[in-house]
Amino acid sequence: MNFIEGTREVTKGELQDHSITRYRVTKFYREQITDGDYYDQLKHIVEPSLKEFESPGNLDTSGEHDNTVSPGLQHKYAQTGLLLVTDRCASYCRYCFRKRIVGHKSDEIATDFSQIARYIIDHPEMTNVLLSGGDPFVLSTAKLHKILDHLLPIPHLDSIRFGTKAVAY
Ligand code: SF4
Repeated sequence: MNFIEGTREVTKGELQDHSITRYRVTKFYREQITDGDYYDQLKHIVEPSLKEFESPGNLDTSGEHDNTVSPGLQHKYAQTGLLLVTDRCASYCRYCFRKRIVGHKSDEIATDFSQIARYIIDHPEMTNVLLSGGDPFVLSTAKLHKILDHLLPIPHLDSIRFGTKAVAY
């Protein structure tokens, strides 16, 4: 496998033991990084490093698992619901906050949006919902419509956001 520092033979087990994800980005993103003027800086975002073998840490740094109130829905701050809608992403960042989920088949991803909507209806203090993952925009338009069909009718929701992009209504 190629690392920033050079090539090293590794087993699948070693990668799993150290939670090291493979290099995986879309062609467009790869070209933006390799063809731009900042490759030496940007490569650190997506290319594996041998330093990851020595990296300590926790795969759930902010206790997301503990704040999950319904599969795929976290309720940590009173006003905000965090909805994990996909375990896929267009890039697997080395520093990803959700490395435990992105690129894996995760049971932390929302599947029952009726149940989630019921929880939000029962919690009027939750006035905004953030759709995240992974990157929600890897989902099909039809799937996004289906999710929004459950959220948009909830009267006390002021905003629904996708990652960093805001959709206000
Ligand atoms: S979820 Fe964000 S940090 Fe994680 S791999 Fe995708 S873009 Fe990178």
